[in-house]
Amino acid sequence: MARIVQKYGGSSVANLNLIREVARKAVAARNQGNEVTVVLSAMKGETDRLLKLAKELTPSPPLRELDSLISTGEQVSVSLFAIACAAMGEKVKSFLGFQAGILTDDHHQKARILKLDPARVKTELAKGRIAVVAGFQGINRQGDVSTLGRGGSDTTAVALAVALNADHCEIYTDVDGIYTTDPNVCSKARKIDRISYEEMLELSSLGAKVMEIRSVELGMNYGMPIHVRHAHSPGDGTVITKEDPNMEKTPVRGVTHQINEARVTLTKVRDEPGVASRILSIISKSDIIVDMIIQNRSRGEDGFTDLSFTVPLSDYERTMELMRAAREELGAEGALGDDDIAKVSIVGVGMRNHAGVAATMFQALAAEGINIDMITTSEIKISCVIQKKYAELAVRALHDAFELDKA
Ligand code: ADP
Ligand code: ASP
Ligand code: MG
Repeated sequence: MARIVQKYGGSSVANLNLIREVARKAVAARNQGNEVTVVLSAMKGETDRLLKLAKELTPSPPLRELDSLISTGEQVSVSLFAIACAAMGEKVKSFLGFQAGILTDDHHQKARILKLDPARVKTELAKGRIAVVAGFQGINRQGDVSTLGRGGSDTTAVALAVALNADHCEIYTDVDGIYTTDPNVCSKARKIDRISYEEMLELSSLGAKVMEIRSVELGMNYGMPIHVRHAHSPGDGTVITKEDPNMEKTPVRGVTHQINEARVTLTKVRDEPGVASRILSIISKSDIIVDMIIQNRSRGEDGFTDLSFTVPLSDYERTMELMRAAREELGAEGALGDDDIAKVSIVGVGMRNHAGVAATMFQALAAEGINIDMITTSEIKISCVIQKKYAELAVRALHDAFELDKA
């Protein structure tokens, strides 16, 4: 017998037939002697539909109300699941985030889980029943509904698995595992059998939306094995776990891209101590997270520098306003912005012991005539900012260059 948390994503519960099917799957797992907790996302497209409704009323809806609105998607899914189970003669109780004991901080739309006390879920499991929990949502200390950020049902699932001391967490989705790159972008993408938390964390934070970043972080911090599998077809899927000798030895495990960042450049700022920190503290005070930062000698001018950085696309307008307002105080000549960018990245723990990985990456991009605007590296990843229109081409070129289609 195992204690399992199963999470089904939006496409896996997109209609009543699929909801019935996942209900049958959960019941079958329970009938095999397992303790099964199910976490569901909203039905496919529902979160986007609700967000669009709110934005038709105003471009910046109050975040508290937005959370209250978009959390309803998951409420619908879990209720329908419990009703489908009832139709099969199974007693299943659905729980909203607060009923499952998920307490979060106050950051509406990107709340973090502070505490998880799934007492009512445990009571159901102890009776030999399945518990079904709404993903993506919790409650804050004021008693208001909060949501965990897009893709947050993954986080609910892994957090519940940890709180319930589960043997593992199963993430059911519309692909049959973690691939070397998004299989919807590159037809040669190959499924990976085992991947380390570290690599998955980098892939997620660099754009692979198959797993939400914080869910991987939680899995890593608590050593919770995560199985990613197709919801409606058989197969072993991918296990996300500690780095181990059975993992394939390759310098690059995967390629990913992201198109949700924008670049801001302050031109001709004084090249003196404290300038970068003044610029970045203006940004961080507004709760905007800066990703890449690059500083270059201003062309032909001694004593001046250009400073570029990237921010999430959703914070781009606000960042530009802040920089235009602070331009004079910072002594910058201009504040330029570019939201027509993409970031392509390669990730792999094997990079630690391989020389020439960066050179191969740059050659592959150059061979396609793709210019690199910014570069950042860490021990296990290299990212390049390029023009947005080349993003998918770059992914395929890098996948070929590192021969990721070959085991
Ligand atoms: P769910 O609704 O089940 O949460 P998501 O849409 O969030 O599913 O994530 C699944 C999608 O992630 C896939 O359809 C695929 O396009 C995308 N994806 C991106 N990178 C990868 C990757 N490396 N491996 C597998 N899928 C990936
Ligand atoms: N429904 C939410 C979203 O679309 C959460 C999730 O699916 O994980 O982002
Ligand atoms: Mg998802």
